Amino acid sequence: MKIKELLIASHNPGKIDEIRKMLAPYGVTVVSARELNLPDVEETGTTFCENAGLKAAQLSELSGRPCLADDSGLCVDALGGRPGVYSARYAERLENGKVVRDFDKAMDMLIEELRQSGNPDWSAHFSCVLAFKEPGKDCRFFEGRVNGRIVPQRSGNMGFGFDPVFLPDGFDKTFGNFSKDEKAAVSHRGRAFEKFIKEVFDAE
Ligand code: IMP
Repeated sequence: MKIKELLIASHNPGKIDEIRKMLAPYGVTVVSARELNLPDVEETGTTFCENAGLKAAQLSELSGRPCLADDSGLCVDALGGRPGVYSARYAERLENGKVVRDFDKAMDMLIEELRQSGNPDWSAHFSCVLAFKEPGKDCRFFEGRVNGRIVPQRSGNMGFGFDPVFLPDGFDKTFGNFSKDEKAAVSHRGRAFEKFIKEVFDAE
């Protein structure tokens, strides 16, 4: 069955933008959880798969629509894979009793943690798991990863999250200097999407 509308189980505008762009050639309308007034699903899992599966299953059930959820994060080798599934929460702090995400602060904290670790190897990777749930069907999973390293100086203001301090292998600029198209061609999310599109859209 051709998918005409796809619910994205995310409230992150940066991610929704990237996803909209990747799905544009397939004539599918992308709607976000926010546009449908759907709640944020609590990420209670300890792996990317668990969290993506939880979000896709719950929002597909609530909306009665095909739903795609992504869980992703930055895993730093010298920090034992942290912040990993807790990447978004790593950037959270309380401001006047409200939780705000401050990635400038998070990047500074990450660099400070790496300096303190004394480990000169700042290798890291971004991971992304996509979970796709259609009503009445089993959830399907697609994974992508991009290797690189953390750099001590932020560079670029494109993308979101930790992009300005992530230097992907084989490039001389951080993700903060990649256009959306350039990033989609090599990123963890782009790679997971390639697999999702191949199986779900190209196979139609
Ligand atoms: P999620 O919404 O729980 O998947 O949170 C993922 C978090 O991982 C984001 O808030 C960012 O901190 C980080 N992250 C995931 N993908 C990217 C990316 O492409 N660039 C920069 N940071 C990312």
